[in-house]
Amino acid sequence: MVPEGRRTKGFFMKWSFSIGRVFDIDIRVHASFGLILALGAVQWGVPHGPRGALFGVLLMVCLFACVVVHELAHSLVAQAFGCTVREILLLPIGGVSRMEKPPQKPQQELLVALVGPLTNLGLAVGLYFVVGKTGGAIDLEQIARMPPTAPSMSTALVWLLGANVFLALFNLIPAFPLDGGRVFRALLSMAVGARRATQIAAGTGQMIAIGLGLTGVFTGNLILALVAFFIFMGAGQEQAEEAARTVLHSLAVGDAYNKYALTLAPGDQVSRVIDYLLTSYEPDFAVVQGSRLLGVVTRADVLKALASEIEDVYVATIMKRDVMKADAARPLDEVRQEMMEKQERVAAVYRDETYLGLVSLEDIAETLLVVGFRNRQEERRKAAMAG
Ligand SMILES: [Zn+2]
Repeated sequence: MVPEGRRTKGFFMKWSFSIGRVFDIDIRVHASFGLILALGAVQWGVPHGPRGALFGVLLMVCLFACVVVHELAHSLVAQAFGCTVREILLLPIGGVSRMEKPPQKPQQELLVALVGPLTNLGLAVGLYFVVGKTGGAIDLEQIARMPPTAPSMSTALVWLLGANVFLALFNLIPAFPLDGGRVFRALLSMAVGARRATQIAAGTGQMIAIGLGLTGVFTGNLILALVAFFIFMGAGQEQAEEAARTVLHSLAVGDAYNKYALTLAPGDQVSRVIDYLLTSYEPDFAVVQGSRLLGVVTRADVLKALASEIEDVYVATIMKRDVMKADAARPLDEVRQEMMEKQERVAAVYRDETYLGLVSLEDIAETLLVVGFRNRQEERRKAAMAG
């Protein structure tokens, strides 16, 4: 069971502790992981005594090592695509890779998702050969046998082989947030686009989760019911996050800059800007010569000049010359990120070498609000039509 989410709640972090760093990724274990160790101890200890209990605990540690390898495989492929992986969190239900920037292209998401289950299949094949070498019999039913067979090296190898096959198959179920759901979504988005693909994949995931949940309840398998609940919630969350990400990513900075902004000439005097300040809401003014941007004068610059200068100075003397440049085609969220990192409130938007206008953080926030509102209305309209 290796569900993944991009964001886990603070609760998970609060009760987790770091056990080491691999490839610059923090590996953390949640305190409730102790439950799994206890489960292993009870399951093997009851029929086989204290030695069985120790065996059960070690088996669970090995199982979680396999989960770590699975998560590391995701993380390393994601890192190869330029994503930042902060940490891998081990929960009783499996591993969670927390990525700063998840893969954007469907082909990348496909590979990042597939490599997890493939790693478990690889481990299973490796264990198969090891078991063969040691002369043990491959009996996959052994993993589910109650009471479990007596502790031995061969028992452990066969059990882990079965567990890895299970991990691979379980994760390939096409339901968010399992790897199979991501594979399904990535394949769909190549055909119908990310937004529609997420809706279809999340819907399918929730249907599968309901099916699994009902099976769990009617067969008295509470763990299955719990996992189904987790998948159901994960699918909903994934859909909400994807919607927000699509809005941010589908817009370019060229959609957000102020096209009707008043501009200044370098020979304009500050007294002229005061008129502008009094008659418009514009906080920043571009100083242009022909179609060339020379600098930016902000409301704050003007007020400072008014307070300190005695003469009516030219705007060229108080303007900020090194203005951050942004190409009109760049995604809005990317530019916003860069502006926040560089602590720039205003950026100059260019198409090729042509200056188009200024964009401020407020402009970007406004655009996101407007587009988010429009999208919600569109969805409501569609829902009303469908109903
Ligand atoms: Zn996975």
